[in-house]
Amino acid sequence: MKTPRIAIAGFQHETNTFAPIPTLLEDFRTPGAWPGMTIGDDILDVFHDLNIPIGGFIAAAKDWDLVPVLWTNAEPGSYVAQPAFDTIAAMICDGISAAGDIDGVYLDLHGAMVTDDFEDGEGELLARIREVTGPHLPIAASLDLHANITPDMAERASSLAIYRTYPHIDMAATGARAKQLLAAELARGEPFARAFRQLDYLIPLQAQSTMREPGRALYAMLDAPDAGAVVSADIAFGFPPADIFHCGATMIAYAEDRATADCAADDLLSALKAVEDRFINPLIPAAECVNRAMEIAATATRPVIIADAQDNPGAGATGDTTGLLEALVACGATKAVLGILWDPDTATRAHAAGHGAEFDATIGGRYPELGCTPFRARVRVEKLSDGQFTATGRMYGGAKAELGLCASLLIMDENSEVRVVVGSVRAQNADQANFTHIGIDPSRQNIVAVKSTVHFLADYEPICEQVLFAEAPGANPCQLDSIPFTRLRNGVRLGPGGPTFAPD
Ligand SMILES: [Zn+2]
Repeated sequence: MKTPRIAIAGFQHETNTFAPIPTLLEDFRTPGAWPGMTIGDDILDVFHDLNIPIGGFIAAAKDWDLVPVLWTNAEPGSYVAQPAFDTIAAMICDGISAAGDIDGVYLDLHGAMVTDDFEDGEGELLARIREVTGPHLPIAASLDLHANITPDMAERASSLAIYRTYPHIDMAATGARAKQLLAAELARGEPFARAFRQLDYLIPLQAQSTMREPGRALYAMLDAPDAGAVVSADIAFGFPPADIFHCGATMIAYAEDRATADCAADDLLSALKAVEDRFINPLIPAAECVNRAMEIAATATRPVIIADAQDNPGAGATGDTTGLLEALVACGATKAVLGILWDPDTATRAHAAGHGAEFDATIGGRYPELGCTPFRARVRVEKLSDGQFTATGRMYGGAKAELGLCASLLIMDENSEVRVVVGSVRAQNADQANFTHIGIDPSRQNIVAVKSTVHFLADYEPICEQVLFAEAPGANPCQLDSIPFTRLRNGVRLGPGGPTFAPD
């Protein structure tokens, strides 16, 4: 058999339709926690050993002839501006077209992209790619565990492989599985039979971790599928802060025949229905959460980690809300640090003031519609950085972050000892290097507060006494029954055991 010639591309965005910051073309060009837009053969160099799906695909496809087209992602945020989507989709389609005679396509997608004009960004992208490739060329895609998979996506891609961990420590492994699925389809000469199911309740992000039950047991089912005709079976827990018709968890199975695929997908659907009451919502109001953390820290030798779960930039939030910071200071926390709080102005001011300087700061809180105000305090500049560092944890390890000017500021207050790290690029704190690069050792704190919902568990839980999840203002609404949805499917429940959605 001749060596398969495969075009590869990536276009990732997780769209939070309730967030205030739109996603523009420049957001796809610039790097942050991940590399910026990468074109052509550079893709092979930049991604080959990173925990990013296309990196895993490349490593697994050394025996294939790859035609790298384009890879890009932007930090999660609100709707992808239509010109940005159109431009990037055209670059991918043109690249695939220019690749000439190919045997298939691999796409590194998220699965929860919403654009100004299209609720189903990936479905639309796949439609445009199908115009180039025709209906029969094998197209394998990898998707995030938070994909809101639509029937169109399932139909237009010939195979989908989905992350099986949250925190996503298996992104590269998922790219490698996509390669296996594509190889199996090429060997078979036609697509596998497929079954697709949608769950009738939304699962809140903070209850989705596969390091907790019931996620751990559900995803463990996938690693040991029934021997025989099931080729692949996957679950996507979905991304709830997206007001779209196909929001929610899905299951997809591929098999030699339709009956086997149906059976595998139905087994997963039944398993998810059976654990509805076991998804725990762990959020605690911020002040109560800080007080509890201080009690635990009083007798602990390791830090208590507090997740500022609703202000997670990795779920599209601004990363600049001040509710938890305020609670830390008001409750008199000591040896406490919070980061990274997105505030380019304060970071720039700290750099201008210089190391050791004090100034009256107005920190974060730029979006009053989120229910918070800037935090005003006199601060001392303790450390400065250019925000460039290499991540060290299990999820992001090896990736070169570029967060712009950063500063570690001590809040000058007689009754507390709280530091805040401000940065210039919105990014989730899921890696200790966010702190260590600026001279703060998280393991030596009493309380470490991170702007993250779940991903921080991979790198922070091993060093901590306990993890708590705070409820404070933010654009990643975690209490699903309070989200003003308007476009969901009729009958979907807003969270496990939650009220049923009914359009007005
Ligand atoms: Zn995700």
